[in-house]
Amino acid sequence: MPLFTGEALVLRTYRLGDADRLVVMLTRERGKKRGVARGAVRSRRRFGGALEPFTHVKVAYQEREQRDLVRLDYADTLRSPMAAGGDGCAYASYFADLLDEWAPENDPQERLYRLGVAVLEAMAVGVDPVRLARYFEYWLLRLQGVYPSIQACPRCATPLAAGAVLEPRSHWFLCRHCAAREQGVLMPPAALRFLAEAGQVAPGALGGVDVPGDALEQLASAHRLLLVWHLDREPRSARVLREINS
Ligand SMILES: [Zn+2]
Repeated sequence: MPLFTGEALVLRTYRLGDADRLVVMLTRERGKKRGVARGAVRSRRRFGGALEPFTHVKVAYQEREQRDLVRLDYADTLRSPMAAGGDGCAYASYFADLLDEWAPENDPQERLYRLGVAVLEAMAVGVDPVRLARYFEYWLLRLQGVYPSIQACPRCATPLAAGAVLEPRSHWFLCRHCAAREQGVLMPPAALRFLAEAGQVAPGALGGVDVPGDALEQLASAHRLLLVWHLDREPRSARVLREINS
């Protein structure tokens, strides 16, 4: 049985019988894997606290011929989202859920993986998780090639810097003139500036970006529409987050 060692982000775990856990993880080099962690419920020696969602781990696992599930030998924590405190765990679950929704099985997704690790590191140094969530959603949709242009209105080519509206049927950002008769989500100039900045900087630098809270709220509404549109449903953890913030 080939043995692999490398880094991964834990996305989700389920209890499997009395003693084992099923672990879904995004490995850096080999994409999303499902594996069984034998004895993980009782023995904390090989897995410790490393199986919480969005934990960055070093893992060793064996792949078995004709089996979808790998067998986890051990998982060591490199960085835990628990260190962030506050609402950090709810956000960590949200980020892990989104990665789980978007990453296909057994297909290397190194950019998604690096996005996850960079956001986890930014959480650890205290960057506001609300900003990180908008950044994460923006990049996730961009990496899939489905984020609408923030540069110019697709109908009339007017630059969007003065504000835009997310039109809910096309899922484009239209200029205010073209969107005058549409029921869309208003994107104030500050929200568009935040996106332009997010396209340039690492998530650890988001703390220094000047953006008012109401612009981030409008961005949250726009991203919710885009995510539901592209995923066909809203991740469960997104609803949990909304309850925390309401
Ligand atoms: Zn226009």
